[in-house]
Amino acid sequence: MRKWMVAGNWKMHTTIPEAVALAGQVSAGVKGLSAGEVVLAPPFTALAAVSDVIKGTPVSLASQNMFYEEKGAYTGEISPLMLKDAGCTYVIIGHSERRKYFHDLDENINLKIKKCLAAGLKPILCVGETLEEREQGITEFVVGLQVKKALYGINAIDDVVIAYEPVWAIGTGKNALPIEAEEVHRFVRHLVGDMYGEVCARTRILYGGSVTQDNIGDLIGMEDIDGALVGGASLKSEGFLGIINKVLEKR
Ligand code: PEP
Repeated sequence: MRKWMVAGNWKMHTTIPEAVALAGQVSAGVKGLSAGEVVLAPPFTALAAVSDVIKGTPVSLASQNMFYEEKGAYTGEISPLMLKDAGCTYVIIGHSERRKYFHDLDENINLKIKKCLAAGLKPILCVGETLEEREQGITEFVVGLQVKKALYGINAIDDVVIAYEPVWAIGTGKNALPIEAEEVHRFVRHLVGDMYGEVCARTRILYGGSVTQDNIGDLIGMEDIDGALVGGASLKSEGFLGIINKVLEKR
């Protein structure tokens, strides 16, 4: 059985004191949890402070991005070694907002995943189609290409988490229907199966896109949905803990 994961992507929100308070509330709310995995991705500035707060709790730390070099003259960038040093276990890579606003291309995403794994960190690879692509009926083509390019030359698939995040569902309040999401999750699992064989049964595939405590119950009930990457609803501890509690009820 795959271990479920609920990850909160705080995006460009929270000052350090706000992040510390939110992380404290989440870790208190999941005390004693052993069934699944809860991950928080605060902004870079709050990583070290949140790392201290979650020490000894079931919560793990993620960053929202990284650069693929270890060090050097790359003003404004953060390396995998720095993230490890700050206490991260996971790195979100290829989020649609990075692809859209910061020109994160599949080739860079592939390099980031390689360097992330080499540093002993685990990538959460985000893939997903735009509304136009869905309407053109090319969702599987687009998502399939993103997965294949991102994982090109990568062996350590057991350390990779994939998040299917339809772009049209991120931050819009329009989540995919559970059956629509499940179709893409099943497609991705089969694709990983074609690439890596039976280990695909162990690969965790999260759904992301306007997840709340009201819609997670039906999503997590789907066979190939192993959890959620949550944006907006992770910024308040009640909402985020509500999502985790719904997952716990269903799993
Ligand atoms: C995200 O940032 O990955 C996300 C899914 O955001 P939201 O839950 O706000 O749609």
